[in-house]
Amino acid sequence: MFNKRIKIKDLISMEPQSQEVTVMGWVRTFRNNQFIALNDGSTNQNLQVVLELGSCSEVLLKRITTSASLKVKGLLIPSLGKGQKVEVKATNIELLGDSDAEVYPLQPKKHSLEFLREIAHLRFRTNTFGSVFRIRHALAFAIHQFFNDKGFLYLHTPIVTSSDAEGAGEMFRVTTLPLEQLPRNEDGSINYKEDFFGKSTNLTVSGQLEGELGATAFGEVYTFGPTFRAENSNTTRHLAEFWMIEPEMAFCDLEDNMNLAEEFIQSIIGYVMQNNREDLEFLAQRLADEEKQLPQDKRSEMGLLEKLEFVLNNQFERITYTEAIDILLQSPAYKKKKFQYDVKWGIDMQSEHERYLVEKHFKKPVIVTNYPKEIKAFYMRQNDDGKTVAAMDILAPGIGEIVGGSQREERLEKLEQRMNEMQIPTEELSWYLDTRRYGTVPHAGFGLGFERLVLFVTGMSNIRDVIAFPRTPKNCEF
Ligand code: ATP
Ligand code: MN
Repeated sequence: MFNKRIKIKDLISMEPQSQEVTVMGWVRTFRNNQFIALNDGSTNQNLQVVLELGSCSEVLLKRITTSASLKVKGLLIPSLGKGQKVEVKATNIELLGDSDAEVYPLQPKKHSLEFLREIAHLRFRTNTFGSVFRIRHALAFAIHQFFNDKGFLYLHTPIVTSSDAEGAGEMFRVTTLPLEQLPRNEDGSINYKEDFFGKSTNLTVSGQLEGELGATAFGEVYTFGPTFRAENSNTTRHLAEFWMIEPEMAFCDLEDNMNLAEEFIQSIIGYVMQNNREDLEFLAQRLADEEKQLPQDKRSEMGLLEKLEFVLNNQFERITYTEAIDILLQSPAYKKKKFQYDVKWGIDMQSEHERYLVEKHFKKPVIVTNYPKEIKAFYMRQNDDGKTVAAMDILAPGIGEIVGGSQREERLEKLEQRMNEMQIPTEELSWYLDTRRYGTVPHAGFGLGFERLVLFVTGMSNIRDVIAFPRTPKNCEF
């Protein structure tokens, strides 16, 4: 058996009693032909491996270079040096894979995030990305645990669909038709009957509609999967391929929905605060160092840990869309014409407006409810005022919209009428309308963009740095 090793994360908290251990990992640095800093990805802390002078051949010493991979056998002893409690006194070193330090792109120095994005296949080997991706993993685990504990069923909704859920975004088409010679109908339009599925298909923009089918049978379900939007928005908060968590609950109104969303966000943040302390502290320090270079007024008021602690311990602010617009109209920013986009009732708030509400006015996460129906999807429940729908968006400091959700229109007639107004074909979505025909119930749900959550928790500022291989306009490497 090859893999009888101890992970460095476990090793460094063990009591050193000269016991024999085996570790494997990649060399971060090697100095004085004696001290190897070894990393195996389980933690940012490197293990100090000490070679006794003269114990290794010259040939082997030359091969211990940055990023070479090693299998080390040795004794776990208290460290004499500063900076670590234990170290491994090597008794046997096996070089698993060489690495030419001259050409290895990661040098033992600070690299810019932009540079690391170009070598995204290697950036996991840096401390920053080590921390980010261990936290991303922990968040995903916490999410499944949260819903499982609450009795939600994990529903796998399809990736390839034939419906545009809500016009949520531009779609990527899925086809096997020959692009050079498309089969045509008599009127010149493309004949999708000849396509793989016999109809026009695309990658999903949301699993919600299918989620509703699950909720109206299981009571409570959630999806957690990839979604795709071909929107040409080159921002630090948009990806063409991102992961979304979408719970959907029967017997649930807008307020229940908000309560769940708030409890959910607090609970998963609580999980990483407890289980990923070391990585969060590393990223908090990283952020603090980064912000030192900014002018005073551009710096965050709170450090990363403080911010997370604050979100954990304070209720989110809840306001209606109409109140939000009033606040914006009363704001010094509006009066001094600081907003690039105009403010009036009916607008789809821009990121600058959302950020004003969250970062300047309330200084905490804000849930905005009851949006004008014109700017929201057809399935949202119509309020009695005839103007608004029972929608809710959660806005987070530094991110803007992190959650979008609503109570769904459960009244068949109202739903059909709205679909007609919005020219959404009811025949095509007949399967969806069946939920309203056969035992309809009040129900609600929301979508949380996973990468936006990871951004928030890690304090990173570009969404490309919290997903392993970002897909954005004109960029699909690796
Ligand atoms: P935005 O206004 O920020 O583009 P949206 O209104 O298009 O968001 P929804 O359709 O409500 O968003 O999607 C639900 C959630 O998915 C959002 O709250 C956000 O967290 C996330 N999200 C939406 N679009 C993207 C994207 N292109 N990349 C990453 N996350 C996204
Ligand atoms: Mn969008």
